[in-house]
Amino acid sequence: MTTPTKLVENLDLFANATQQFERALTWIDGIKIGIVEYLINPKRTIHVRFPVNMDDGSIRTFHGFRVLHNRVRGPGKGGLRYHPDLTEGEVAALAAFMTWKTAVVDVPFGGGKGGIVCNPKELSRGELRRITRRFVAELGDTIGPYTDIPAPDVYTDQQTMAWIYDTFDLMHPGQNNLAVVTGKPLEIGGSVGRDEATAQGGLFATERLLEHGVIPGMQTLEDSRVAVQGYGNAGATAARLFHDAGARIVAVSDSRGGVSNDNGLDPNQVSAHKEKTGSVVGFEGAAEISNEELLAYDCDILIPAAIQCQIRTDNADNIKAKLIIEAANGPVTAAADEILQEKNILALPDIVANSGGVVVSYFEWVQNLENQQWDLDKVERRLKKRMVRAVDNTVERWKTLNETPKAGADGTKASATLRDAALVTAIERIATVVLQRDIWP
Ligand code: NAD
Repeated sequence: MTTPTKLVENLDLFANATQQFERALTWIDGIKIGIVEYLINPKRTIHVRFPVNMDDGSIRTFHGFRVLHNRVRGPGKGGLRYHPDLTEGEVAALAAFMTWKTAVVDVPFGGGKGGIVCNPKELSRGELRRITRRFVAELGDTIGPYTDIPAPDVYTDQQTMAWIYDTFDLMHPGQNNLAVVTGKPLEIGGSVGRDEATAQGGLFATERLLEHGVIPGMQTLEDSRVAVQGYGNAGATAARLFHDAGARIVAVSDSRGGVSNDNGLDPNQVSAHKEKTGSVVGFEGAAEISNEELLAYDCDILIPAAIQCQIRTDNADNIKAKLIIEAANGPVTAAADEILQEKNILALPDIVANSGGVVVSYFEWVQNLENQQWDLDKVERRLKKRMVRAVDNTVERWKTLNETPKAGADGTKASATLRDAALVTAIERIATVVLQRDIWP
């Protein structure tokens, strides 16, 4: 069923990011109108096409992008995604989310994102290595420790980051290049805690949000029922950490489908099964469910941790969770947000919920520049402090915005969501820096 909303749903991710941005703008008084276009659109987009030798002796041309969305608060920062359906608009939106995320969580970066149109599941390790190295060579000096710093995202990992570092380092001998990329293996400048950072940050943020009493009767995770969509870096780690923090993981899924058990799934055993078979599907002692059923699963907390636009106007009405923790980027469309708000389902937005990844990427960057190695305790303490501060600021701003709801043109009053609150904070911080730095010349 498609539920009517005031916004027209658009499944283009950049259109969604624009709708979110424009909605948040209605709560900001006195912004210089001339900078709005600058704040929403990418500063620069680089397209590269390059040939790669394939294992079967053929040659294929690949297409990659790197979007630098905004760098007024620091160098661009953001992941690299390898996906067959990747589009420029998707990458631009993901880069915009990075600009807002780095502002909300207050790390001195701007927003960037990139990727290559390819299907990693059909490529050998050697092919992925050649594609990655050639992509980095094509990007040349548009990436660098002080210009734009990639990291892992969907279907890229530590090994991809190691290839990026090595290629860039060979192109720039005689200097410390470790900080050109984050999410590297520990042995070559990676940070302890980076692999778990997105999920660990999401856990710290969720626990803090619950402490604020935003979900009646649920002050902690103890025995809460949690469903997780996507069982990769963010999702599988979230399932494990939420389980260890006292939650019951009742359903999980990946691109092939899902499994559920109301008595709880053991995330370590599910991971072992996925390691062996390539999917969570077929996990013993669990019922098989589809991804649509997972989203509608009877649970307290839903963690979308796969890809964008999963919760839309055609399924938002089916959601039973009280709280959505957006581990993925852009999992809820702007129009679906309105339905969730009407149903009193709270969503902790991606730009807060999954910002732990970029926070620990920032720690990795600092350690690389200073030739330091922090221990896990230091990383986690500092991560927690930033996540708690981001949640506190967002909740406080949300309450303040809702003290004076906005009157719409039709006379109805609009109240703010947590996403509006986080975005208002981000946009104000970025706009302030634009004006403080002054517009040159
Ligand atoms: P990943 O490649 O490790 O895992 C992705 C998972 O999603 C896989 O299990 C895959 O099977 C599943 N998936 C893909 N398409 C699906 C679909 N249509 N339905 C259900 N499951 C599907 O990627 P990741 O790094 O865990 O990233 C997941 C999400 O989290 C992305 O939106 C990413 O932008 C976001 N994110 C990741 C990080 C990070 O540090 N890894 C940081 C911030 C945000």
